[in-house]
Amino acid sequence: MSTTRNYPLCIKCGRPMRGRGVTREEAPGTVATGHSGMCKSDAQPNTAERRNRQRKRPSVRPVTPVPVEEQLDHAVAALQGWIARRHERGVPPEENPIRYQRQAA
Ligand SMILES: [Zn+2]
Repeated sequence: MSTTRNYPLCIKCGRPMRGRGVTREEAPGTVATGHSGMCKSDAQPNTAERRNRQRKRPSVRPVTPVPVEEQLDHAVAALQGWIARRHERGVPPEENPIRYQRQAA
C-alpha cells in the first residue's frame, strides 16, 4: 500500500507533493508543495538558509606574522642559493653584485 499514490506529482522532479498543512510524518515519502505545479524545492530553490550555506567563505587562512629575523634568514638563504647556482654556472664570485651581512643584534 502506497500512501503517496494520490498525491500530485511535481512537474519538475516528479516527486509526490503532500498537501498544505500535511506534515512530513503524516505523508512519508512526499515533498512540500510549492507553486505552479512544482514542489517547494523546485519552486523556491534559493532559500535564505541555502544562500547562507553558499555564502563565500574566505579561501585563505589569516596569515600568521613571520618574525623579521626569520624573513631575513629566508632571504639570505635564497640569495646564497642563487649565488651558489651562479658559481656552479661558472660566474666568478667576484662578480656577485650582492653584498650582504647580517648585523649582530
Ligand atoms: Zn520538484
